[in-house]
Amino acid sequence: MTENSLADVLAIAAHRDDVEQTCGGTLLRMRALGLRTAILDLTQGEAGTRGTAEDRAAEAAESARILGVSWRQALDIPDGRVENTYENRLKIVAALRAVRPRVVILPYWAGRHPDHYTSSTLGYEACFFSGLAKVDTGTRPHRPFKIIYASLYADVRPSFVVDITPYIEDRHRSLMAYKSQYADQSQGSGLFVPEGEIRERTFSTARHYGLLAGVRYAEPFVQKEIGLVDDLTLIPVQSI
Ligand SMILES: [Zn+2]
Repeated sequence: MTENSLADVLAIAAHRDDVEQTCGGTLLRMRALGLRTAILDLTQGEAGTRGTAEDRAAEAAESARILGVSWRQALDIPDGRVENTYENRLKIVAALRAVRPRVVILPYWAGRHPDHYTSSTLGYEACFFSGLAKVDTGTRPHRPFKIIYASLYADVRPSFVVDITPYIEDRHRSLMAYKSQYADQSQGSGLFVPEGEIRERTFSTARHYGLLAGVRYAEPFVQKEIGLVDDLTLIPVQSI
């Protein structure tokens, strides 16, 4: 943990509940290791079919409590219109310089929803800008050491997975904190996954990624850098 840092790991995503779905179990695991975790949501969810931005703020706070994160904020970038602009980069830079994380988790850079893949590029460029002294936000520059990409929404082969087996139930509870999105109700019922089905979907996805590494439940990540090995006898995941 670096000096004045508010968290060791910061997860950035477009929408409230994206972090819960793609890396909530990983945040729980890092918390259990004694690391401090944080979440930056880029939008406030005002474009959602169900619930208001205020409902979702209360739900996000409850979810943050379940995940044990030490810091969570939502920016005011319009929901459904996440764009890679200088102004939006500066908003994220201000958050990065306040939290000063060693590791940043970003969404994967390709996918179906434009807000998701745009957040990936926007987040990466903000991490770069955050390290530049001439980008003046009135706070000291900070560049994260490591950027990894949460790839659960994307159908790509992960670089590695994180075993979330002990945390899968708490991750599910954090997602269910978004009652306006997942509680069974008639409004938008054609668009939303029923409460009973979300559990089966999320658990089976976690099981799929767990099987790739010989554990029960896992979350997938991609890193752009190559892996570096010290002791060959300590490389995990059995080959045959
Ligand atoms: Zn989303």
